[in-house]
Amino acid sequence: MKTYNHYINGAWVEPSSNAYLDTDNPYTGEIWAKIARGNAQDVDRAVMAAKAAFDEGEWATMRPTQRGKLLVRLAEIIERESAWLAELEVRDNGKLIAEMGLQTKYLAEWYRYYGGLADKVEGAVLPSDRPGMFNFTRHEPLGVVAMITAWNSPLLLLAWKLAPALAAGNTAVVKPSEYTSVSTLEFMGLIKEAGIPDGVVNCVTGLGMEAGAPLVEHPHVAKAAFTGSDTAGQKVYESAAKKIMPVTLELGGKSPNIVFEDADLDAAVNGAISGIFAATGQTCIAGSRLLVQRSIHDKFVESLVRIAGDARIGDPMSMDTHVGPVTTLAQYDKILHYIDVAKREGAVCALGGKPYAASGVASSRFVEPTIFTGVTNDMKIAQEEVFGPVLSVIPFDTEEDAIRIANDIVFGLAAGVWTSDIGRALRMSEKLKAGTVWINTYRAVSFMTPFGGFKRSGQGRESGQDAIKEYMQVKSVWIAQTMATGNPFIMR
Ligand code: NAD
Repeated sequence: MKTYNHYINGAWVEPSSNAYLDTDNPYTGEIWAKIARGNAQDVDRAVMAAKAAFDEGEWATMRPTQRGKLLVRLAEIIERESAWLAELEVRDNGKLIAEMGLQTKYLAEWYRYYGGLADKVEGAVLPSDRPGMFNFTRHEPLGVVAMITAWNSPLLLLAWKLAPALAAGNTAVVKPSEYTSVSTLEFMGLIKEAGIPDGVVNCVTGLGMEAGAPLVEHPHVAKAAFTGSDTAGQKVYESAAKKIMPVTLELGGKSPNIVFEDADLDAAVNGAISGIFAATGQTCIAGSRLLVQRSIHDKFVESLVRIAGDARIGDPMSMDTHVGPVTTLAQYDKILHYIDVAKREGAVCALGGKPYAASGVASSRFVEPTIFTGVTNDMKIAQEEVFGPVLSVIPFDTEEDAIRIANDIVFGLAAGVWTSDIGRALRMSEKLKAGTVWINTYRAVSFMTPFGGFKRSGQGRESGQDAIKEYMQVKSVWIAQTMATGNPFIMR
């Protein structure tokens, strides 16, 4: 059992309340670490350290090329430590080691990419319509950025924020999820090893209302980058509005995965399964609404049920496991509640629909892969994010029907389309109201590709070249080449 304190200005700092929260292993239920229960006082300490690092000292005057080199060094350290980081993530959130091993290795690419980009953001000398005036722009960092992350992929969600923010010259206070803070805390050691100066990245742990909210509200925080539920995201947006502060919000989804009769059906079945059952459905991009053309509906559902019914449920540390535990008890209860709601709404449970008793573990937080058919898009099970291994299958007749159903939702994070007709693929990609559209694939993301939500799924974009500008502000500088004369009371 290890007890973790806050990480502020390069040192481990005890929480001012002296209180700690338990961290458990979702598979065994064992409490294996304690994290500091932060409050507004701790947040203030961290923000003031980040502000000092931004305003003065080594980081404040460091050239972008040097910042880039430090990020590339961090990428190398991440690669060296990726197996250990993956194990930490699995112990924290119960995701499969088979997935997390790949994810923590890939993590390095965000730091390498933005490290390379650090010295390539250029201001411009502007053509001027004003005689005797010289005008240019500068892209400047914002200051202290609050980074608040969810429990499903702590280090990846942090990389999407931290890599562009540091490349742009900002400093950071990170508040990871209270359920999965350990990997982020251990990551602070790698940041130090990379040579990023103390105070540039700080980490305060604790609950959303006690540590997250005061962080967003702090007068010296210049931006909030948030990943989490749409309800908490709305609160973050509201407090940011009070300060007129920019935000990046990566929120929930209820993404449609749409299968046409002309699709490669084997590939589409695989895409539908990985769309919803990978990570036990605990991903924002889960393809939780499966729209299937009526002509192939029954045959398609039969294949889905057969493959999902054979899934091996169990230990996330085993390379053979297909479906792991649900990360938190609260989430487990929420999933079972939605299964109950779906049954009461009249959906037909074609597979699963109940808890799974895993053998050999005291605590069980497993839900069977669940498939509901006979779902209509107005049902709660089709409209609300479950964040678990629960698939709603909705039949449709025509392309127009599919678009209408897919877009009839408050969210707009992602959508999948399975078809062999290139014209249809392009029409669908144009008409779907989602930040990402996948054609004949699902779940692909990259450091080079913008990611974010339409509608209630978010605000702003992460990854890709433009994301660095989400952490910068533009300044226009005017220089008079000849001194002004004449009436000073008239604006020219
Ligand atoms: P959550 O909203 O409960 O918590 C997310 C983070 O916000 C946590 O660190 C929490 O402590 C903090 N928080 C909660 N209330 C806050 C407040 N008022 N002010 C400041 N911080 C606050 O979400 P969760 O249950 O941890 O994660 C699941 C959700 O995250 C799902 O809705 C999922 O779709 C979403 N998500 C989105 C993306 C994306 O990129 N779009 C990625 C992963 C997860």
